[in-house]
Amino acid sequence: MPRSAAERREELVELYRQARACTRCPLHQTRTQVVFGNGNADADLMFVGEAPGANEDAQGLPFVGRAGKLLDEMLGENGMTRADVFVTNVLKSRPPSNRDPEPAEIDACRPYLQRQVELIEPSVICTLGNFATKLLSGSQQGITRVHGVPQERELGGRQVTLYPLFHPAAALRTPRVKEQLSEDFARLPQLLAREPAGAAPPEPEAGPAPATIEQMGLFGS
Ligand code: URA
Repeated sequence: MPRSAAERREELVELYRQARACTRCPLHQTRTQVVFGNGNADADLMFVGEAPGANEDAQGLPFVGRAGKLLDEMLGENGMTRADVFVTNVLKSRPPSNRDPEPAEIDACRPYLQRQVELIEPSVICTLGNFATKLLSGSQQGITRVHGVPQERELGGRQVTLYPLFHPAAALRTPRVKEQLSEDFARLPQLLAREPAGAAPPEPEAGPAPATIEQMGLFGS
């Protein structure tokens, strides 16, 4: 039986509670708070970055620094806001001094991202930067080669379109990368409008429009 958006949202909240108390890897000792991700719990489009930085660790929200502002700008150029999408990272806790995530940390955090994908049911997942792209695509091909090229993948038990994008932080450093990020972003509305392969026609769902995790006050209290 397919679960309603409200049921999936409730499970996502429960998953957030588990993540907040998570001690599966040593990063729990150094983080200020878990950065679970936020946005629309029933989004068609998900963004996955690498790991929280200092600003994110302080606020408990993903992509809130300069890179996040650029992400907002690119969403806006394509008629979207954060409330339309769900934004998260591979790691939910900040690695000290923003060092690269370690294999044991990635393994410990993997079930959270898998479950997020299962519960949110996105059709398109944008990986932001080399790290998330290599991990989620299962390929060592770098972002310079694969950006802007959709890949069909199974993630969290779902067929999704993986759409690798340059990391906004890289775009802030290099104007040409920013142009490419903007061009890749511009193809997103078209990608989202595609019917997923073998998809049944959508069932109309009763009840109010799904609230975003932020609207639920989860991160405000
Ligand atoms: N970079 C990331 O990969 N994720 C964040 O949340 C912020 C910066």
